[in-house]
Amino acid sequence: MKFFVSPYHLKSATSPNAQTPATTRSGVLLKVQWPNGKVGYTDLHPWPEMGDQPLNEQLMNLQKLRLTPQTEQAIWCAKRDANARAEKKSLFPTGIQLRNNYLIENVASLGVGELDEIAQRGFTTLKLKCGRDLEEEVKVVNRIAGRGDFRLRLDFNATATPALFEKFISQINKQSLPTIEYVEDPFPYEHESWREARKLVRIAIDFESRKLDWNKTQRPSCDVVILKPVRMDVEKIVEVALHWRLKIAVTSAMDHPVGVMHAICVALELKKKHDPHVLEAGCLTLRHYQMDSFAAAVPVQGPFFMKPMGFGIGFDDLLASQSWTALGVS
Ligand code: MG
Repeated sequence: MKFFVSPYHLKSATSPNAQTPATTRSGVLLKVQWPNGKVGYTDLHPWPEMGDQPLNEQLMNLQKLRLTPQTEQAIWCAKRDANARAEKKSLFPTGIQLRNNYLIENVASLGVGELDEIAQRGFTTLKLKCGRDLEEEVKVVNRIAGRGDFRLRLDFNATATPALFEKFISQINKQSLPTIEYVEDPFPYEHESWREARKLVRIAIDFESRKLDWNKTQRPSCDVVILKPVRMDVEKIVEVALHWRLKIAVTSAMDHPVGVMHAICVALELKKKHDPHVLEAGCLTLRHYQMDSFAAAVPVQGPFFMKPMGFGIGFDDLLASQSWTALGVS
């Protein structure tokens, strides 16, 4: 196998405030070439702040064929792309549609009329990042639930505690509670306390799933698993999730459009195969970064991705025109 990289930077679409410039996140596009001549593309976009090995270390290790969970999965994605390209086929499944949720990173930034506009565009599920200001977030949840036109996903990124979380839920109007589809990573995973949390509301596991021994012997304390195909073992997680009758929500990793396309292709395939077990996806994260030529090439209609041009995950011309540097693997 030969590896080639093309570094990129994603600039956040909004600055945290007037004094702070837009934040920039870095990753590499990865081109993998197999001895049989097949070539596939993927994205490597670590989140060191969430515990990933930093990008440079992952690349050094990849050079020596020492794989991390992320590079292992990157090769899995590249191989799917390579096989489809070799057959001159798109990886994007047809005949199936899957909605994506609309992500709101900071509820305090919700503008007047913004919810009406989101509803008009066809979104029916909102995902709110929580944990910044619980009082404000309770108010927003009650306000949105009162509208009656959105389902809610709340993501705490494990920033609360069991006590704070219980208090948060107790402040939500009884009639608003059914609006909450699930709460993601309310606080750090611990089998018993998550089991208690599940009595209050449906619980989804995302980053906290690394603390789980993902197997068929012990049922995880959650109702939904968040599956990020560019960084998690898709086949293993789907098998275990179906075994325990957990629902699956596929999301992007807030990464490059190349990673996003891999995620939505997997999401559509899983929806086709395991329909009632696969929930709305969370792959529409492109608008959180400044538009680039890749993002511009992703066809989106409201909450849906449409089939892109080209083979594999698409972007044929853009990928061909990147400058690629070989990683020294023999
Ligand atoms: Mg999450």
